[in-house]
Amino acid sequence: MSETTATKFLYDMSEGDASMKTILGGKGANLAEMKRLGIPVPDGFTVSTAACVATMEAGGRWPDDLWDDTGAALTRLEERTGRTLGGSTAPLLLSIRSGAVFSMPGMMDTILNLGISDDTVEVLGAEADNPRFAWDSYRRFLQMYGEVVEGVAPHVYEDELTSLKARRGVAQDTDLSIEDLQELVATFKDVSRRELGRDLPSDPREQLRRAVDAVFSSWDTPRARVYRKAHGIPDNLGTAVNVMQMVFGNRGETSATGVCFTRNPSTGAKELYGEFLLNAQGEDVVSGIRTPRELSEMEEVLPTAYAQLIQTMHDLEMHYKDMQDIEFTVEEGTLYLLQTRNGKRTAAAALKVARDMVEEGVLTREEALVRIEPAQLDQLLHPAIDPDHGRSPITRGLPASPGAAVGQLVFDADTAAERGVSEPVILVRYETTPDDIHGVIVAQGVLTAHGGMTSHAAVVARGMGRPCVAGAQGIRINTAERTLTIGGTVFHEGDVITLDGSTGDVYGEGLELVPPQINEDFSAIVGWADEIRRLGVRANADTGEDAAKARELGAEGIGLCRTEHMFMASDRLPAVREMILADSEEARAEALAKILPMQQEDFEAIFTQMRGLPVTVRLLDPPLHEFLPDLVEQSLLVQRLELTGGDADELSSARALLGQVKRLHEQNPMLGTRGCRLAMLYPEIPEMQTRAIVRAALAVRERHGETAGVEIMIPLVAFAKELEVQREVVERTVADELAAAGEELDVPIGTMIELPRAVIVADQIAAHADFFSFGTNDLTQTGIGISRDDAEGGFLSAYVSDEVIPSNPFESIDRDGVGGLVQIGIERGRAAKPGLKMGVCGEHGGDPDSIALFEELGISYVSCSPFRLPIARFAAARAVLSTKK
Ligand code: ADP
Ligand code: MG
Ligand code: MG
Repeated sequence: MSETTATKFLYDMSEGDASMKTILGGKGANLAEMKRLGIPVPDGFTVSTAACVATMEAGGRWPDDLWDDTGAALTRLEERTGRTLGGSTAPLLLSIRSGAVFSMPGMMDTILNLGISDDTVEVLGAEADNPRFAWDSYRRFLQMYGEVVEGVAPHVYEDELTSLKARRGVAQDTDLSIEDLQELVATFKDVSRRELGRDLPSDPREQLRRAVDAVFSSWDTPRARVYRKAHGIPDNLGTAVNVMQMVFGNRGETSATGVCFTRNPSTGAKELYGEFLLNAQGEDVVSGIRTPRELSEMEEVLPTAYAQLIQTMHDLEMHYKDMQDIEFTVEEGTLYLLQTRNGKRTAAAALKVARDMVEEGVLTREEALVRIEPAQLDQLLHPAIDPDHGRSPITRGLPASPGAAVGQLVFDADTAAERGVSEPVILVRYETTPDDIHGVIVAQGVLTAHGGMTSHAAVVARGMGRPCVAGAQGIRINTAERTLTIGGTVFHEGDVITLDGSTGDVYGEGLELVPPQINEDFSAIVGWADEIRRLGVRANADTGEDAAKARELGAEGIGLCRTEHMFMASDRLPAVREMILADSEEARAEALAKILPMQQEDFEAIFTQMRGLPVTVRLLDPPLHEFLPDLVEQSLLVQRLELTGGDADELSSARALLGQVKRLHEQNPMLGTRGCRLAMLYPEIPEMQTRAIVRAALAVRERHGETAGVEIMIPLVAFAKELEVQREVVERTVADELAAAGEELDVPIGTMIELPRAVIVADQIAAHADFFSFGTNDLTQTGIGISRDDAEGGFLSAYVSDEVIPSNPFESIDRDGVGGLVQIGIERGRAAKPGLKMGVCGEHGGDPDSIALFEELGISYVSCSPFRLPIARFAAARAVLSTKK
């Protein structure tokens, strides 16, 4: 309370300026600023956001002084204008407008012409020598006041207006006669009485009080809440209320009202963009009752006001150094500005405007970068559904991988692979397994009924930039019938659907897509970001193709090269299973010997692409059971073979595999035998991988005269001893290979930091590490103690929507908790080894908010999916600029 009582409730417009948005709201602050600049704005005052907050806190009761203060401000306005609210001569008419700190277009309400009544309507008409205008204003007032303040349904008035026009046989409001408007005023009063069971209040001061109160309440309407939630605007800011003298665009053919932008908000082009209507007021332009005219036509009908408007548009843009969205009214030839704000724009326009303004010398590059939202770049990187589609989704899942996709339904990976070559397909699965990868590769998009944001489908789709909606629980898949049922609708194989992986929406038809727009503006702006950022930006890439893509999108190296995907490819899997099933060291060595050349080949492809740049290879990480069939499926297979009494060999090998699957089965595989734990049990695995890496590096150097800067990384280290032992294995193998080849190669050896214990003993671990890479995905799971796959489909979304936590910690790093762990890890690691290189290779490496934190913490580089690279480069620059502020 102390804060609000310290702040004034009422401000005359001349007291404010653009810096006072928090207290005056955006609209009020900008109106005051325009007044200060000498731009014609109707006079008025602003009831501050503090008054709204105080009222909300008191459960809707106004603070004691508020009504007195309002009366005093009104009296001052009456003195300045020489007019009186409700006065029988020179009556003052007011507009009452909401104005929040962050603009919420169309979310809250406006009341125009307050002060018009049976007592003042005649005077106003006589004064303007235009009784029609006065009656037109009166019926407008009754309608707006009835709707906004008293809550009468809008159609009640619209129906009367439409029926009167029909009876008179006219199409336009402006075709109604004075008598018609008088009749409408009487009718509006009648229907209001009918709806409310009482008369509308007739005292303008009482109306003003109720109008201000209605604006306060409009802050808490459901649509305003939804809007704020979607845009991350806090619920406790409250809105200001702007009370201004009316100016009249409906005073005849030399009066007008309109809206304009200083540039085209959809393309960003510097051109005239706006609309106006002669003899009209307020919402007429946007309401669609009359078709507004192009702004350029105003030059002919209202040349003086037009010239002044064009000049003012220019002045305002230069003043705010941003594209402006402007509302104006012309009253009998005189121009008034009623609003200016930074215009909302499409992503493409945002980039063009920023780039043009730098070229025009209006903005510095730094200023321009701050104007662009990372999310806007993201939109441009993926095909999107044409925003004008107007359809509703038939179901929804998790937005697992952004972008939109249209295609024919297919229900298995083989069919996808077959059909997908010639036509767009969408692969629909209950959940995907490594065996589906060939289908995922050719599909336009992936839809699964089960699984969270790290489900295989999601991870793979994101890595490939493929749109994916995962865990859509509202769908029923019948693979035998090849049907998909959503609600009551049955879709068959070949039916076309659309996915939006950015929202999780699924549409039961093919919608138009708009392509990604990596244009010159995009490249130029990301190029500026590169000059400013401090953080290195690397990519997560597992194949030569990924590596090529990464390099093309500006990666300065590979921060995470996962080797398990190499194991999962279908031509490798038999040898990998052989290795896992081996019952002796010799058998295992034999299987590994088969895998080695395949791994080497993969590494060669990657190192070739990344010549001259660092590549951090992570040794095998996942638990072995991931390379084996699913326990339940294998049990069923054995059962079926037993029942059908089929081939004896087949049965015995199925049983053997089942036995192995059971043996390797773990209750909590995420916390089980994986990462370096696996390597501790089977040192021949890291040994084989190290050989493949060194041989590949040497082969590439031999072939191209240059190779990649190979770094080897040990996963899931908790104890310094683990790293010490593994380092010894790797070092010995590297030395062995180099000696055999008679070559030299520097191979730094580092570790992932992805367990809380590793963070705490980071100083001990640092003693054996040449670098750290924070695996923030696992660090989030183990740090918070949640399993991502279980949480994302379960309580986590409730936590986010109930605001227990601000956002999904797997998308944007949990600053205080997991971010705190990263900070401790950095401090302790660098205390033991000053200057130790520290990367981040979790998915957070591509998230702008997380990148901001990594900049603050002094991380050396982030690593993200190739498709996130431009965003990461951009966000890294933004992070530098915002820490400078
Ligand atoms: P919105 O948030 O819907 O844009 P506004 O508060 O900007 O609501 O008001 C809507 C319209 O009402 C304005 O575009 C303008 O045409 C009209 N209006 C507002 N204040 C005045 C005024 N003092 N005189 C004349 N018209 C006004
Ligand atoms: Mg409005
Ligand atoms: Mg407005």
